[in-house]
Amino acid sequence: MECLFCQIARQKIPAAICYEDDFIVAFDDIAPRAPQHKLIIPREHIATLNDLKPDQAILIGKIYLVAKQLAAELKIAEAGYRVVMNCNEGAGQSVFHIHAHLLGGREMKWPPG
Ligand code: AMP
Repeated sequence: MECLFCQIARQKIPAAICYEDDFIVAFDDIAPRAPQHKLIIPREHIATLNDLKPDQAILIGKIYLVAKQLAAELKIAEAGYRVVMNCNEGAGQSVFHIHAHLLGGREMKWPPG
């Protein structure tokens, strides 16, 4: 069965997509942990950060540029926001297609639990 986020990127299953280009797709997290909670993914399937190859490094930069753009659009840029990627189950990764969480609209605690 095709990966869940590959299916979202190919619009085979629905999601509230807020950004897309040839490389990146962003959409609402289905179970938001903050007033603003978006997921930003590469279209290319990469299971975990451990699997990232040097020639895919540009995708990580693009993910952060999209996070910055969305934060501005969502008006959370000035107050502050968090961009986080969980790697493997011990860090809370549950979908094995890399994704950055963009979280904002509330005060963030540090360190994360
Ligand atoms: P992680 O636990 O870091 O792998 O994050 C996976 C995230 O994907 C979680 O925050 C889930 O709420 C979210 N999620 C799971 N299924 C969907 C879906 N169909 N649409 C949008 N977000 C989803």
